[in-house]
This record gives sequence, C-alpha cells and structure tokens, in this order.
Amino acid sequence: MAKLEFYDAHNHLQDERLKPNWSAIWADAQSEPIVGMVVNGSRESDWQEVLNLAQQHPVIIPSFGYHPWYVKERTPQWRENLIDFLDRIPSAIGEIGLDRWVKDYDFLAQEEVFTWQLRLAVERDLPVTFHCLKAWGRMLEILQAEPLPRRGFLLHSFGGPVEMIPLLIKLGAYFSLSGYFAHARKERQRTAFRQIPRDRLLIETDAPDQLPPPELILHPLDDAQGKPINHPANLLGIYNFAAQLLETPVDELTAQVAENFKRLFQPAPR
Ligand SMILES: [Zn+2]
Repeated sequence: MAKLEFYDAHNHLQDERLKPNWSAIWADAQSEPIVGMVVNGSRESDWQEVLNLAQQHPVIIPSFGYHPWYVKERTPQWRENLIDFLDRIPSAIGEIGLDRWVKDYDFLAQEEVFTWQLRLAVERDLPVTFHCLKAWGRMLEILQAEPLPRRGFLLHSFGGPVEMIPLLIKLGAYFSLSGYFAHARKERQRTAFRQIPRDRLLIETDAPDQLPPPELILHPLDDAQGKPINHPANLLGIYNFAAQLLETPVDELTAQVAENFKRLFQPAPR
C-alpha cells in the first residue's frame, strides 16, 4: 500500500507561540508525512513571517488575509500591502471572515474588509478561507449576493447550523474538521460533519489553537507560560478521529481528503 500523505487545510505556523519550536515541529511534521499545509496569516504584522516560512518549506501554501479579530489594526495601506504579498508568491487568501463572538467587534469594518478580500479572491481566482463565529445569517447573505470563486471556498472549523449546509454546498463550500470537535460537548458540530458530502471534506489542526482532547494529542507542546497548545503534527490524530466519526477506513478518507485539498488549493492557471 502506498504511504499515506496528510494535508492540513488550516494552521497558523507563523504564530509566536510555535516559533520557539519551529525546527522540532518541522521534523515531526515531515516524519508523518504532512505533504501540504495552508499557513494562514491574520493581519499585516504576520504576513512577512508566513512568506518566510513558505519560502523555506515548499509544502506550505501561504495564505494572506485580514482576520476579523484584527481589522482594527489595519493600516491605511492594508489593501496595497495584501496585494503586494499575493504578487510575491503563489498564494491563497485567508483567514478572512465575520465574528460576533469576539469582544468589542466593529461589525461594519469586518464586513467591509471581508467583502473586499472576497472580491479580490474572485478576481484573481485564488483559494480563500473563511472564519465565521456567531454571524452565519449575515455570512450567508453576503455569499448569496456576491460573486464567488469558481473553485469554491473553505469554511474552516465549520460550526454553523446544520440546516445551512445544503445552501453552502450549492455556493461551493468546503468544510474543514478540527480536532477541537472531538471534545465530548461538541456533539452538534460532529452531527453537522456527518452531513458533509465526502468530496467537500477537509481536515485541519488550526494549530496552535483548537487543542484536541488528550487522546488525540500525539505531540504534546506547551507555550512559554506552560499552557498546552496544539502542535501541527497532531494532524494524524484528527484524521483518525474523522475516520471514526464518518465510519470510513482511514486510508480511504486520507485519499479523499488529498483529492479535495488539491482540487481546492491548486494554483490558478497563468
Ligand atoms: Zn485560524
């Protein structure tokens, strides 16, 4: 049997909390092997680090975007800066989105920043990753009103209403499952993922966040304060969780996820 190859649809390898352990993390990820990962920037101040990592490691698909949590940090030149990074390396757009869960949000600013980035993804035919928390109604309205990327788009760590899944699929959504949903209290999210068509499923760590329950942690890691964080190579534990949840042999699931990943994240033809 061919060796299994794993893809992480969403992480933040550039994060300060992972940085002190980059070389060890990289060795672990390669031994698994993780052959593709989308490393998501979240604001202007981390885009350079995402670019540096991608230049060192060809398995990384760099993704540049303004996350809704950080829109208040944007400079007057944020659009030009984003375009500049996208022009420097084949890349994706993300993580972008809407969030009414975070404290002191400016929803109008979030919408403006989200919509502008979405239009850019369409214009350039780039893969794009969405974050959405407590804003699914508005998200759906925007997606139904705007032109969308032909290749589809990723809803990372999807926790939206089950009833919305058929509408989102029609619009081109892919959905990535995180290990966080293996926690006992996340039954609603697990139920949702059982409804996702297999050709729209991806797997993610969201490392260093979304720490899975202890039984899925293959690579324990702490931040500088001793707080447990999610290691990108915990990805395999999440594949096993997904295989169990969907009652599918892990090799079959791995092959399907690889196909889906390549379909969504392939570079635009030039
Ligand atoms: Zn994320």
